[in-house]
Amino acid sequence: ETTHFGFKTIEKQQKVAKVAEVFHSVAAKYDVMNDLMSGGVHRLWKRFAIDCSGIRPGQKVLDLAGGTGDLTAKFSRITGEKGEVVLADINDSMLKVGRAKLRDRGIAGNVSYVQANAEALPFPDNHFDLITIGFGLRNVTDKDQALRSMFRVLKPGGRLLVLEFSKPSSEFLSKAYDTYSFQILPKLGELVANDSESYQYLAESIRMHPDQDTLQQMMNDAGFEGTQYYNLTGGIVALHRGYKF
Ligand code: SAM
Repeated sequence: ETTHFGFKTIEKQQKVAKVAEVFHSVAAKYDVMNDLMSGGVHRLWKRFAIDCSGIRPGQKVLDLAGGTGDLTAKFSRITGEKGEVVLADINDSMLKVGRAKLRDRGIAGNVSYVQANAEALPFPDNHFDLITIGFGLRNVTDKDQALRSMFRVLKPGGRLLVLEFSKPSSEFLSKAYDTYSFQILPKLGELVANDSESYQYLAESIRMHPDQDTLQQMMNDAGFEGTQYYNLTGGIVALHRGYKF
């Protein structure tokens, strides 16, 4: 199977290896590239997720696929010393960059770092009040299994937030965005990080990711209730929310 851009659909094993390679490769430049590629707007998308999270002091949060820890840093401040924030990521290069950055900013006490695969979370049942996965789900090979794993470790009454690239709502925006992703983005990657291939993967992974309604249905199938989503920046990004009751 090929996409209409002609890239071969990657098999499971290859995808796992590819994702690992990409994030080992981009870890050191990840934050600067994020700001550059999104014109800083990723900060607003993350802010919106925090505002929708309903998080309170003393609660337990899992920032899954947390990478360099932007969301973790914000949650750490809100949950306070009685709270707990776990930054979990499959990739040790990303975790190392995240931990160094957060420690530099004086964020330490209530944060722990765990290397884990979203498909098989190493946490007890019914543990977290909130799970976020920011720009991470599209990199996970078995998304249904990962959603079920998140459901398991969430407390009854807890919620999941999935912040992810999605499907632009207008045809015009969709075309402009495709041009940006497949032509400009890999060039930016080449210029700034000397790595066009990783940024080509990024564009491809966004294109392949399930659209808003499909992801909502996948959350329902994993057991989440009261699911809904908000489109951000014309649907370039969507925030999905669901509860475990
Ligand atoms: N959440 C951060 C942010 O919003 O800036 C980082 C997002 S980064 C684009 C995606 C992250 O997902 C990477 O750090 C990668 O290692 C992680 N990841 C990919 N597959 C994963 C998996 N199966 N389980 C856990 N983390 C995974």
